[in-house]
Amino acid sequence: MFIGHYGPALAGKTIARAVPLWVFFLAVQFVDVLWGIFVANGIEHVRIVPGFTDANPLDLYDMPITHSLPGALGWSVLAGLVWALVSPKQKRIGGIAIALAVFSHWILDLIVHVPDLELWPGGLRVGFGLWNNYPVALAVEFGVLLAGFGLYLRVTEAKGLVGRFWPWVFMALLALAEYANHTAPVPDDFTTAGYMGTITFLIIAALAAICDLTRRTR
Ligand SMILES: [Zn+2]
Repeated sequence: MFIGHYGPALAGKTIARAVPLWVFFLAVQFVDVLWGIFVANGIEHVRIVPGFTDANPLDLYDMPITHSLPGALGWSVLAGLVWALVSPKQKRIGGIAIALAVFSHWILDLIVHVPDLELWPGGLRVGFGLWNNYPVALAVEFGVLLAGFGLYLRVTEAKGLVGRFWPWVFMALLALAEYANHTAPVPDDFTTAGYMGTITFLIIAALAAICDLTRRTR
């Protein structure tokens, strides 16, 4: 799952309006940001198996720190606590919303991944395997993204002209990113690929910040 993760990020403002959209955008990909860094540094591992799933050839056989259930829960609590400690506004509800956003990543991964998500480190692996049918997985991604987008448009309003059209441009860019991600050549160097993934998430969060600058909550 890639752009579908941003559905919960866009929905975040319905729970905590003080949390900037870019924070929610980083939160929902937090475990994948870490995964990119860990894979690049040989801490977690992935291998290419041609035809592994219909959506991609990634055999994600070792990612206990970022994508096990306790791992995902731990990062969720940590991210929520950081907000509660550093934010002057909506400490409690903002922290809860951010923790839920971080954990939504694991739930959505659970739907599409083949069984590679450990319920405990070294334990039973789960995943409903929607990646075995890419068109269906893609429909779910877009469905989740657009549901969040609808909620975001409802709780915010444009400050000016840019704020009126930017969210739509942003959604189109995300669709392009999904297309590029799916059609990109298979990486043979996971040091570069890991960092590139992390940088991509940072760029998308920066694009979300343009929404913060050009729109306000109602
Ligand atoms: Zn993930």
